[in-house]
Amino acid sequence: MSTVTFKSGAQLSKQSITIWRIVQFAVWLVGAAILTCLLFFPPLGILLFWNVLIPIAPFLFVVAVGIWRNVCPLATTNLLPRHLGWSKRKKLTAQQIGILNVIATFALFIIVPLRHALFNNNGMATGIMIIIMAVIGVSLGFFYEWKSAWCSGLCPVHPVEKLYGGNVFMSMPNANCENCMNCVIPCPDSTPNFNPLSTHKTEYHTLSGLMIIGGLPGFIWGWFHVPDANTITSLRSFLSVYEIPVVGLATTFILYYNIEKIVKLKYKRKLISIFAAAGVSCYYWYRLPALIGLGKFPEDGLLINLSSSLPLWIVPLMRLVSTGFFFYWLVLRKPNNQSWVIRPEFEKK
Ligand code: SF4
Repeated sequence: MSTVTFKSGAQLSKQSITIWRIVQFAVWLVGAAILTCLLFFPPLGILLFWNVLIPIAPFLFVVAVGIWRNVCPLATTNLLPRHLGWSKRKKLTAQQIGILNVIATFALFIIVPLRHALFNNNGMATGIMIIIMAVIGVSLGFFYEWKSAWCSGLCPVHPVEKLYGGNVFMSMPNANCENCMNCVIPCPDSTPNFNPLSTHKTEYHTLSGLMIIGGLPGFIWGWFHVPDANTITSLRSFLSVYEIPVVGLATTFILYYNIEKIVKLKYKRKLISIFAAAGVSCYYWYRLPALIGLGKFPEDGLLINLSSSLPLWIVPLMRLVSTGFFFYWLVLRKPNNQSWVIRPEFEKK
């Protein structure tokens, strides 16, 4: 196994690489166990996936998305062909990556409302969705270099990582790319204080960036105003899960688009961070009470029902603390020049 050198001068020793591989394998096993539960023990799988893993993810993206980028079980699976030397290691053009980013953003906005119609109450459907993503990701891994096609291209979670991960706690070692092949320029993993508009290389990059920054806060707000529909009886009732999220998305998108036009260039990063903080705060504003049975729809998204044992003031307190934290972390803190992970040494030609 090759030794990886970092720009900081620090080296990831063979021992550190071994530790990261063990952690990746352990997290992969946890992912495989959750997938097995989704398919064969749906109530437990749904609880673990939608009500434990997914609620943690946005916080992790804000604080240390590099940890997730290193251990995501889907990434570990998708990068296997590259690690085993089975990938053709092709490079995507900037335009191709931009198009993948647009598809990823639209996929996010299409898949997430389906949680209300299908996934939140159907472990088999959720498991099949994850398997389809893994098949697409692994297939791309056989052809394209490192994270370019899936992790930084087509993955529907990646636009959210880019929005929330603009000022992470610290750079982690890069536990995936053995040497940097410059497969994505600029690399979201290796660029300090990356945001969705860090690159305007093509109109596709700009479109996906605008969509996620402007659209996500309103989309999240709308999503939490739709109950889980246990029975979809018609096309009309199926499409109804999209109505409020799309109205929310359009509202904050138009707001961002117009503010962005009048804001001076030097304040654009601040504007992006305000919308990022609004998005993640809105998520926890509704999600934290829902986890303990104090949400708008008490049966939806429940982890443990504490509604009869906790005082009602706990809800505004949780909202105050989480919103205060995210606005402090993303908006008030100075950009600290940290990337998600540290770029490994470029491969010597
Ligand atoms: S660190 Fe280099 S090889 Fe790895 S994803 Fe970024 S650009 Fe590609």
